[in-house]
Amino acid sequence: MSKKIAVLPGDGIGVEIVDQAVKVLECLKKDFGLNVEMEHALVGGSAYDDSGSPLPEATLNLAKEADAVLLGAVGGYKWESLDIAVRPEKGLLGLRSELELFANLRPAILYPQLAHASTLKEEVVSGLDIMIVRELTGGIYFGQPRGIRTLENNEKQGFNTLIYKESEVERIAHVAFETAMKRDKRLCSIDKANVLECTELWREVMIRVAQQYPEVELSHMYVDNAAMQLVRAPKQFDVMVTNNMFGDILSDCAAMLTGSIGMLPSASMDKNQKGMYEPIHGSAPDIAGQDMANPLATILSVAMMLRYSLGAEELAVKIENAVDTVLNQNLRTADIYTEGDVKVGTSAMGDAVVSALKA
Ligand code: NAD
Repeated sequence: MSKKIAVLPGDGIGVEIVDQAVKVLECLKKDFGLNVEMEHALVGGSAYDDSGSPLPEATLNLAKEADAVLLGAVGGYKWESLDIAVRPEKGLLGLRSELELFANLRPAILYPQLAHASTLKEEVVSGLDIMIVRELTGGIYFGQPRGIRTLENNEKQGFNTLIYKESEVERIAHVAFETAMKRDKRLCSIDKANVLECTELWREVMIRVAQQYPEVELSHMYVDNAAMQLVRAPKQFDVMVTNNMFGDILSDCAAMLTGSIGMLPSASMDKNQKGMYEPIHGSAPDIAGQDMANPLATILSVAMMLRYSLGAEELAVKIENAVDTVLNQNLRTADIYTEGDVKVGTSAMGDAVVSALKA
């Protein structure tokens, strides 16, 4: 039976990069027997413009009934002044929470061909291969109460709540330990247990769950030190697990180690391996519509989709090899271009990956 992919390009470069990922999927369907059907829907600012909601019911229903979701990115200057309740980002957060996508896997892998594109010294980053496991549906981004209130003296006060139940920490801990088991079996849990009670509990639960994974070496690090270590000696890490907000920040930091935010895919999973797959970058309104965006993070997100949600490991590896091939051909979008490379646009890069798949 064919599997269904909900395709949600979103806004800005989301549309251009998802087009390239769809080309890759079409090629896998036609030439390699991948049995999937794709259905497109609006999300984010484009959905707001169309219906007044960044996450229309039809989009949510499609995402719920699909086996996997492919997302581009949401947001842009045009919608920045909207009320927070209908901003494009609400569409994304809504999908994550409605689909209960609590586990975000963000690999930060440095392609040897791009070692010189990192802002860090080549010897610090070459061979880098980290997996960041970020809790995605809890913590301060969702905690209640939240808001901006006016105090008795008329001063305004903003407040948010950092909150985690044991069960929420436990389930992300299991994902992280399972991930470590498939890699180098080293897991570093990032918290701020010296200051925040919520993360003191986080650490306690991590230690408890570790007893079920005796082969995995568990360590702990405060988030401020983790940020420093990521730029000082990133190769010390294998798998990192952390809460929603710390993971948001650390994974962007890790992304830059690899040279470009345009290279990194991500997967957000529920407890049944259903997932939403998206590049880690945003909608890049500064370069939208100019055929400049790097589509490789989105194409690599399709590889993760095949691996984690569609049970097609072989095809996932095929995509990763095709990306390797185009990098070996020195094809580069502007974000990873250095002198001597062949500069290509978004669409040409997508075509090159398809050609490499067919070769
Ligand atoms: P961004 O990731 O969109 O862009 C940051 C910088 O990286 C920009 O200079 C951009 O040109 C560049 N960049 C990003 N992706 C690229 C690619 N594939 N190829 C080449 N260059 C790329 O982050 P931002 O500028 O902070 O945010 C822009 C909008 O995106 C905002 O509305 C923000 O809310 C939204 N956003 C959405 C998501 C998401 O949909 N998951 C994530 C982050 C930000």
